[in-house]
Amino acid sequence: MELELLEPPLLGHSETARVAPVHITEHRDLKRDDFWSVIPAYAGITATEFHTHTFQTRQSVTNVRQLRETLGDLATEAFYEDVAEGIRHAPMALRISPYLLSLINWKAPYQDPIRTQFLPVASMQIPDHPMLKLDSLHERKDSPVPGLTHRYPDKALFLPVDSCPVYCRFCTRSYAIGGDTETVEKFKLSARMQRWDDAFAYIESRPELEDIVISGGDTYNLKAEHIQLIGERLLKMPNIRRIRYATKGLAVMPQKIVTDDAWLGALTRVVELGRKLHKDVVVHTHFNHPNEITGITETAMGRMTERGITVRCQTVLQRGVNDNPATMQLLVRRLSYINIHPYYVYFHDMVPGVEDLRTSLQAGLNIEKHVRGHTAGFNTPSFVVDTMGGGGKRDGHSFEHYDRETGIAVFTSPSVKPGVYFLYFDPLNTLDDLQQQRWQIESERAAMIDSALDSAKAH
Ligand SMILES: *Cc1c(COP(=O)(O)O)cnc(C)c1O
Ligand code: SF4
Repeated sequence: MELELLEPPLLGHSETARVAPVHITEHRDLKRDDFWSVIPAYAGITATEFHTHTFQTRQSVTNVRQLRETLGDLATEAFYEDVAEGIRHAPMALRISPYLLSLINWKAPYQDPIRTQFLPVASMQIPDHPMLKLDSLHERKDSPVPGLTHRYPDKALFLPVDSCPVYCRFCTRSYAIGGDTETVEKFKLSARMQRWDDAFAYIESRPELEDIVISGGDTYNLKAEHIQLIGERLLKMPNIRRIRYATKGLAVMPQKIVTDDAWLGALTRVVELGRKLHKDVVVHTHFNHPNEITGITETAMGRMTERGITVRCQTVLQRGVNDNPATMQLLVRRLSYINIHPYYVYFHDMVPGVEDLRTSLQAGLNIEKHVRGHTAGFNTPSFVVDTMGGGGKRDGHSFEHYDRETGIAVFTSPSVKPGVYFLYFDPLNTLDDLQQQRWQIESERAAMIDSALDSAKAH
């Protein structure tokens, strides 16, 4: 009897057995219909027009007036007011593409993972953690020249542009990216040649540097000639072996890869130059939810694959977006299916105004357990915490100490800043009432942190 229970179900005895169960193939079901036609402003737009980067850029929505004009009765007056109020308290400016707007389920916008990432609503905002600081990753402190962060021995982060095709609520660089909002006066990073030249001179002067991340902002917003200029300049430096262009574009405006031939052409020429010089040129992108991947993403990735361009994905773990095993498994499968390698899942950084999006460390560790083993190891992302105070990225599991009651995790980073302890804090509303009350008392805060540090040092 017991043995029988262990035997597999009788496969192959019926016709249906040859059809894989839905949960195995769901990642291949990519939207290919005219999904945008439910949006009043896009109702008459053909696929040919909708899937151009010019339409996507021109029709991007940057304020509540445009949101109303685009959606009309699809959203309620209360929702528009909630967004208007949310924007007043948000650290990031608003910018969302027609593509993303059309992928939101307007029947339930409060639960929608894409709405959650791009349209702030005041009714869901919660107070920041008391330990949170702007520029929590010390990017400006580790900057030898403006717009260049050199924290790790052999790699650096170059920020040639300060705008993006969309603005994400959760952006770590809200100190620099996008226009000024009412709450943050931006540290200006203007895309001027002089600043780029200073960055190039620094990179050339440091023989230990081999690897440059070209980010921003977003390299989608660099002109084609600048994509090429920056790539060629870096590849010609004898010390540089690897460069990566970072863009969220594939996730938020895949149309550009399909219709902006100048931009993709410039990228392709840099990739080819890299190949000739035996150097590595790749693209890093940023998907957070399986709904962000559609038929047009597959078409765009087809063009990248034909050109032999490697694409990797960095995901941000966000509450209400992707903080459950099934969503993260589906995301990883879907990315893999279109040839994007899942590289990292970041625990949400401690940035102001988006505390509702953070999860506890424990929540992420649980998801990681479900993702690992689900598909190929090379398509299995590492779950990392980018520590406050410039300790760099740490594997979420590698804490020295984690007190799940007070929500304090302590990390060390011996190859980046030896001897220093770095802290990560679970959101207060994931703790029980007593612990939440302790966090409101300054002396208690200090005591909880000291106790966590003592436990970490006792190792
Ligand atoms: C993330 C990051 C890099 C790249 O790190 P990898 O782990 O190699 O992807 C480089 N410099 C800075 C400052 C970074 O934050
Ligand atoms: S695209 Fe990247 S840099 Fe730009 S707002 Fe989003 S997370 Fe920030």
